[in-house]
Amino acid sequence: MRCPNHLLLQLDQGHRLRERSGYRGRFAPSPTGVLHFGNLQTALLSWLQARCCGGEWFLRIDDLDTPRNRPESLLRIQSDLLWLGLHWDGQPILQSSRLGIYNSWLSSLRRSGLVFACRCSRRDLAGESIYPGTCRAIDAGWGWRAQRLPSWRLRVPEHNPFGSGDVVVRRADGFIAYQLATVIDELSFGITDVVRGNDLQDALPAQRSLYAALGQKPPRFWHGPLLYDDDGQKLSKRESSAGLDVARLNGEDPAHVIGQLAAGLGLVPMGTRLSLDELLSDVRDASTLPLNS
Ligand code: GLU
Repeated sequence: MRCPNHLLLQLDQGHRLRERSGYRGRFAPSPTGVLHFGNLQTALLSWLQARCCGGEWFLRIDDLDTPRNRPESLLRIQSDLLWLGLHWDGQPILQSSRLGIYNSWLSSLRRSGLVFACRCSRRDLAGESIYPGTCRAIDAGWGWRAQRLPSWRLRVPEHNPFGSGDVVVRRADGFIAYQLATVIDELSFGITDVVRGNDLQDALPAQRSLYAALGQKPPRFWHGPLLYDDDGQKLSKRESSAGLDVARLNGEDPAHVIGQLAAGLGLVPMGTRLSLDELLSDVRDASTLPLNS
């Protein structure tokens, strides 16, 4: 793919960062509400893996989907992580401050003929597990004529090894898609290891296709267990599943909550109270963390 120099420089810098530090991890919450215990568990796993490996750990705020953002979450996420002692390296990375970069990548993909305009609605695609290629051959000008924006999809080779369809890189509402932003960010910041919840396993085929289209090596991906509420529903920020507020109201301190999270992960017996440093020295070997790749 043809790529302007400033984008190549970014990739190059990402490579150098990777090589220099060996391990660079990140936690990337969306500021759509308060972190619940499932999010905190993922943050803890990601932090533990990074620190066990003597690596760096970054906080990235995935705030591109502005209608879903809750302004107060940005500070709450940071203060909750700090209350537990989950300190990140450097400044938090706000995706909203990187729009120019994502747009440059998008233009580059477009100029290289790697993306096409798609007019399929969610309804058109209901029941399709993989995008059936409906708009691949349609002339790109239709969006103007229809007076609305198309979404833009990456043209992914059929029968690709990842099992992905054509990935949406810019949504029909004009927002940069999560898949594009996350891949660009892992590459530019030299992330070597991505730890997230099992629910994001579904995002892997699309992301692997994007790495392949950019000719870049993906980071290692790890997935941790999810937490469910009493009705068997996955905890959700938007549904306001209980976070640290409730714990604090009940008089619980960080040592209690860390013990509770670590016990949920099978790392310590139930009822243990301990600091993050104590937990880190207990764990020592990252391969004992309940993560699957
Ligand atoms: N921002 C995404 C979320 O909170 C996670 C992104 C990621 O870890 O790749 O679900």
